[in-house]
Amino acid sequence: MSRVLVTGGAGFLGSHLCERLLRDGHDVLCVDNFFTGSKRNVAHLLNHPYFELMRHDVTFPLYVEVDRIYNLACPASPVHYQHDPVQTTKTSVHGAINMLGLAKRVKARILQASTSEVYGDPEIHPQTEGYWGKVNPIGIRSCYDEGKRCAETLFFDYHRQHQLDIKVVRIFNTYGPHMHPNDGRVVSNFIVQALRGEDITLYGDGSQTRSFCYVDDLIEAMVRMMETDAALTGPVNIGNPREFTIRELAEKVVAQVGGRSRLIYQPLPADDPRQRQPDITLARERLKWEPQIDLDDGLQRTIAYFRQLLEG
Ligand code: NAD
Ligand code: UDP
Repeated sequence: MSRVLVTGGAGFLGSHLCERLLRDGHDVLCVDNFFTGSKRNVAHLLNHPYFELMRHDVTFPLYVEVDRIYNLACPASPVHYQHDPVQTTKTSVHGAINMLGLAKRVKARILQASTSEVYGDPEIHPQTEGYWGKVNPIGIRSCYDEGKRCAETLFFDYHRQHQLDIKVVRIFNTYGPHMHPNDGRVVSNFIVQALRGEDITLYGDGSQTRSFCYVDDLIEAMVRMMETDAALTGPVNIGNPREFTIRELAEKVVAQVGGRSRLIYQPLPADDPRQRQPDITLARERLKWEPQIDLDDGLQRTIAYFRQLLEG
């Protein structure tokens, strides 16, 4: 049994990760400031004898004794990370410094939840880990993209300078139960709109692409990455390489939910990446991992979750 700290543990991915780690027999400390996460996501874990929930903002130092740290704290939806961009950068950068400092003090292994956003609006397709990205440093997405890039820099400098045991994964668009209904990301937006019989809001002409990974697949890859030998620092892309246009996604959601929602078109936000697809060769080879759940199946599970949530 390891003592595992999950920052951002009450969020969408964090809550699934806490659940998985408890199932694997670990002692889990979930730290969150509840900016975008919620106690509801971990309510079912509160009575577990090896689960502990702590309200804390990672931009402040944290003194705990743990063996492993999964650093997930950071709002991930453009709507939320642009709400207070200065705090977003602080969360990524000060949060990384604080968690790396903690890892150094207690000699813990630490994994960073990085993102495909480090590639920005990519010029190569699909994106491999060796690609350095095309990121606007002063745009409305920069607080998130550059914050995450700087966090990666800090991870590798702590590794080189202090021999810290690090792991970095670059997560591509992931969806599933426990996303916030007002999260603002595309899958939850479309499902909630369809279930409410509202219009489906396509930004731009809907021809931009994303590759959607179901949460269970993602968590499996993260846990495998954490347990690889120390030589594998990453970065490793994790995501589902099957690529869809946003219009195709909208059509799938409407077909599965039924109802009479129409597709409507709204302006494309600034710096919205045109296309995104992970090259997961490295994850296949080193983690012996690839996604098992296709978009139709994952959407069905996610729609069932939101249907129950909205009815409740
Ligand atoms: P989320 O918004 O549901 O979860 C983020 C969690 O971090 C929330 O519980 C939030 O309250 C918490 N948090 C935010 N700022 C904090 C702070 N200063 N101190 C403590 N807690 C704080 O998003 P998610 O989708 O679960 O994303 C989790 C991580 O994975 C993020 O770091 C995100 O950048 C990364 N990621 C996610 C995706 C995805 O598609 N879901 C893609 C790429 C990267
Ligand atoms: N998007 C959309 N309608 C929505 C929300 C998002 O068309 O209601 C588009 C958005 O412009 C982007 C894609 O869907 O092209 C994915 O957006 P999301 O915010 O989920 O993630 P990210 O842009 O960070 O990949």
